Amino acid sequence: MEVIRLEFLTNSYEETIELGNKIGSLLSPNDCILLTGDLGAGKTTLTKGIGKGLGIEKNINSPTFTIVKEYHGNLDLYHIDLYRLESLGQDFDLEEYFNLGGVTVVEWPFNVKDILPNSYLEIKITYIDDNKRKLNLIPHGKRYEEMVGEIKC
Ligand code: ADP
Ligand code: MG
Repeated sequence: MEVIRLEFLTNSYEETIELGNKIGSLLSPNDCILLTGDLGAGKTTLTKGIGKGLGIEKNINSPTFTIVKEYHGNLDLYHIDLYRLESLGQDFDLEEYFNLGGVTVVEWPFNVKDILPNSYLEIKITYIDDNKRKLNLIPHGKRYEEMVGEIKC
């Protein structure tokens, strides 16, 4: 079977929020999304949209001093940012979040390559210009191939 990879172009912050909203509305318990892309690419912005799709009302922002922020919605969201992991030490237990029944969204996931689940949706965000971003949805595992198929429809 051909693996579906989707590419989106957004022309504004709001369009990225709306793409996140759509993705968020398709998520199920224990789903995992890994966000890659440079600083300022739009990972946290997309997470805000995903939160909207999960029915979370609280404003989602960068977890600056903590690695994880937890939000309650139709499904819970564990928003994890591993950018500063090294300066915080290695005693952080990430694995426990993947099976709590919520949705895990991880920024800078490959700082902890060894303990990531083997099935996840990777979203690679690329800066094009001040207001434009490219978002590639790359499913890893059958669950996420199906999900990406639903977004395509
Ligand atoms: P990251 O978490 O990847 O470091 P943020 O989401 O915190 O990035 O920041 C993205 C910045 O880019 C925000 O200031 C946002 O307003 C701006 N921006 C401009 N255009 C877009 C777009 N199309 N999609 C997402 N963010 C955008
Ligand atoms: Mg961020």
